[in-house]
Amino acid sequence: MTRYSSEELMDMEQQYGAHNYHPLEVVITKAEGVWVEDPEGRRYMDMLSAYSAVNQGHRHPRIIKALKDQADELTLTSRAFYSDRWPLFAKKLSELTGKDMILPMNTGAEAVETAIKTMRKWGYLVKGVEKDKAEIIVFEDNFHGRTVTIVSFSVDPIARDNYGPYTPGFVVVPYDDLEAVMKAVNKNTVGILVEPIQGEAGVAVPSEGFLKGLEEIARENNVLLAVDEIQTGLCRTGKTFAFQHEGVDPDLIIMGKALGGGVFPVSAVAADKEVLGVFQPGSHGSTFGGNPLACAVAIEALDVLIDEKMSERASELGAYFMEGLKAIKSSKIKQVRGKGLLIGVVLEESAGKARKYTTALKEKGLLCKETHDWIIRFAPPLVITREEIDKALEAVREVLG
Ligand SMILES: *Cc1c(COP(=O)(O)O)cnc(C)c1O
Repeated sequence: MTRYSSEELMDMEQQYGAHNYHPLEVVITKAEGVWVEDPEGRRYMDMLSAYSAVNQGHRHPRIIKALKDQADELTLTSRAFYSDRWPLFAKKLSELTGKDMILPMNTGAEAVETAIKTMRKWGYLVKGVEKDKAEIIVFEDNFHGRTVTIVSFSVDPIARDNYGPYTPGFVVVPYDDLEAVMKAVNKNTVGILVEPIQGEAGVAVPSEGFLKGLEEIARENNVLLAVDEIQTGLCRTGKTFAFQHEGVDPDLIIMGKALGGGVFPVSAVAADKEVLGVFQPGSHGSTFGGNPLACAVAIEALDVLIDEKMSERASELGAYFMEGLKAIKSSKIKQVRGKGLLIGVVLEESAGKARKYTTALKEKGLLCKETHDWIIRFAPPLVITREEIDKALEAVREVLG
């Protein structure tokens, strides 16, 4: 294969690829664990983990082995036939989530769509909401994916503008505001869709008791609570799921990203029979959803998280990282916030745009991505070590201190 330089590859992408992203100017050709490498052999520490899809670290040997072994046996059957992998994955994820049933999809957005369909169908068939009147409560600054229905309730003009006509049936209320939720609930409300921490919004952590409060409102009003754990789930915040910090028992758990172990798109919704039982054959599906290759990878991805105690790692190392960041004396840093290894550094307005700093951090060997113009997210693979965090802190100190 022809080898191209970083410069050539970036030019090629600019010319032939649609410009729906604005990547940091670095090309990655190789990766292992926390480390990635560019075509010129420069090494960088990954502080983004593909938006938390690589919690287990790049190319975890057990996950890669599962992928290769399965590729030699069977890759795709569609759900027209049974396979010998999907039942095992469903059982494993059901046990992990404590929910009766699993519905498998591929991308996160598809899992969110699945949760929306589930709540609406439940609303009509179980709660008895009048036809086409179902409402779902969502939150300002949400990020749940990119489909037309999902961007219909986004408040981010860049994500939403010019994609209308939009899907009705969503009520947007301020995040972390239980009173607003209470006011928004009515007889047509079928669900509340929430991120336990808003990652894309810049690692916005709600007040303690917010999720618990949502659960109470949902119970009192016969409404389903759906948590989008696509970014916060699977050990990222120091628990298997972020909602566990408050001992909440949501009706629907939406998963994606790290469920595929950083190698394959795998997503799913977990819920009990009374909820996911609303689907009958033909009423929802996906050709690749639950495919044997994805299932083999996901089973191993989950086992790795458990066997390597990634929750504990995220909790301890996250606290260590956060303390280190808070200790940096800087006129540019306004706030350090987050949970586990999902950390946001909010910049002072006077510091200027975050891109300047993520570019400088890249020069120091640290790959971070800004969210909005004033927040830098630190979310390394959970296999990161204390020594590597020290290294990262050193770079941040040099750039922001
Ligand atoms: C990434 C993300 C999604 C969308 O997942 P895709 O796989 O990109 O479709 C949805 N919700 C949250 C919270 C996410 O972080």
